[in-house]
Amino acid sequence: MKTFFDLKQEVRATGRCHGCGGCVTICTAVNYGALQMGDDHIPRYKSVDKCIDCGLCYLICPEVGELDDQVKRNVDWSAPMGRILQVSVARAADEDIRERGTDGGVVTAMLLHLFDSGKIDGAIVSRQTEEGRVPWLATSREDIIEAAGSHFDAMQGTVALGEHYSTYSPSARALGSLMRQGLKRIAFVGTPCQIKSVRKMQALKIVPSDAIKFYFGLFCTSNFDLDDDKLHTMEELAGCTMSEVTKMNIKKDFILRTKDGQRKHIPLAELDFARRDACRYCDDFSAEYADISFGGLGADRGWTTVIIRSPLARAAYADAREKCLEIQSIDDHPGLDARILSTIMESSTAKKQQQVVAAE
Ligand SMILES: Cc1cc2nc3c(=O)[nH]c(=O)nc-3n(C[C@H](O)[C@H](O)[C@H](O)COP(=O)(O)OP(=O)(O)OC[C@H]3O[C@@H](n4cnc5c(N)ncnc54)[C@H](O)[C@@H]3O)c2cc1C
Ligand code: SF4
Ligand code: SF4
Ligand code: SF4
Repeated sequence: MKTFFDLKQEVRATGRCHGCGGCVTICTAVNYGALQMGDDHIPRYKSVDKCIDCGLCYLICPEVGELDDQVKRNVDWSAPMGRILQVSVARAADEDIRERGTDGGVVTAMLLHLFDSGKIDGAIVSRQTEEGRVPWLATSREDIIEAAGSHFDAMQGTVALGEHYSTYSPSARALGSLMRQGLKRIAFVGTPCQIKSVRKMQALKIVPSDAIKFYFGLFCTSNFDLDDDKLHTMEELAGCTMSEVTKMNIKKDFILRTKDGQRKHIPLAELDFARRDACRYCDDFSAEYADISFGGLGADRGWTTVIIRSPLARAAYADAREKCLEIQSIDDHPGLDARILSTIMESSTAKKQQQVVAAE
C-alpha cells in the first residue's frame, strides 16, 4: 500500500505537487489528520504517528495514475479530450453578472439558477479576500455572486506566500467546510487538476465527495507563481504597472485590462518563467472529467465557451438557457461549434504534447 511517504518521493520531491490540498483534506476528514499544509502550501506530515497507512492520500492525488482508468470509466471519458455532448457559446442574461464575470458570467449564472431552483445547496468556488483568492463554500445567492470572476481578475487576486504570490486557489480544501456543514448537494468549480482529484474521491466513495452533484471545470493553460522580480518582469512585458490593472483574463494570451480601458496582451509563451512547476506536467486543458467545462477560448469577448459532457449537465444547461442565459445561435454563426472545437483541440493537443516533453 502506497502512502504519503510515497507521495513525498514521487510527487512532492519531483516538483509535481501543485498544492491542491486533496491529500490533507482526505486525511483530516477520514482519519486522524496526520498531514498538514505547510506555509509554502505544500503538504507535509503533521504527525507521522497518526498515519494509519490507509493509502487514501496516494490514491486521490491527481499527479499519480492510480484510479485513472476507473475515473475515466465513471465519466465515460473518450479520446482525444473527454466526452463531448454539445458545444455552445453563451453569456449571462443579467448584465450585472456579465460585468462581474470573467468572460460571459455563465458559471455564476448557472450556479445561481441551480441554487434558486433548489438543485444545489451551495457551491465550492473561489473568493477574493484581503490575502487573495481562497477556496470557499458559497451557501447563498450573495456568496455566489461575490465569488464571480476569475483568479486573474486582479493582482490582489494572488495568494501571498511570504514573498511569493501564486494565482492558484486550492478548491479541494473547501471540502473540509462541506464536511462540517453537512450539505448534501453541492456544485464544485475548479481547474482540471482539482476536478480530477475530487473525481478520484468520488470513485472511492469518500465522504464528502458524495455531496458533489455538479462538476464545473474551468479551462486551464497554467497557473503562475510570482515573486517581486517576476512581477516586475511581467509589468515590463505588459507595459504597465499592476496598480493600473483592473481585470485579468487568460485565453490564447494573458490579457490585462487597465483603468484607462486599454487591453494589454502577453503571449503565454513569454510567461513561461512564471509558470508553476506542477503545471508543466499537466495534460488536461479542457477539464476532461467535468460535467461541464467553461473557458474564454473560442468565444468573442464577453462570452463563455461551454462544453457539455454529461446528460445531467445537458439538462441543467437546457433549463438555464431558457431562464438566465443568452446563447449564440448556430443559425447566426454557421460552423461555430466546429470552429470552437478545433480551437480547443489545438490547445488541448499542445498541452498534452508539452506534458509528454516535460515528463521525459
Ligand atoms: C487558473 C485559471 C486558468 C484559466 N485558464 C484559462 C485558459 O487558459 N483559457 C481559457 O479559455 N479559460 C481559462 N480559464 C477559464 C476562464 O478564466 C473563466 O473562468 C471561464 O471562461 C468562465 O468564465 P465565466 O465568466 O463564465 O465565469 P464566472 O461567472 O466569472 O465564474 C467563475 C467561477 O470560477 C470560480 N473560480 C475563479 N478562480 C478559480 C480557481 N482558481 N479555482 C476554482 N474556482 C475558481 C469563481 O469563484 C467563480 O465561481 C481559467 C480559469 C482559471 C481559474
Ligand atoms: S492516514 Fe492515510 S491519508 Fe493520512 S497520511 Fe496516512 S496514508 Fe495518507
Ligand atoms: S494531493 Fe494535491 S497537495 Fe497532495 S501531493 Fe497530490 S498534488 Fe500535492
Ligand atoms: S495547468 Fe493543470 S496542474 Fe496547473 S492549475 Fe491548471 S489544471 Fe492544475
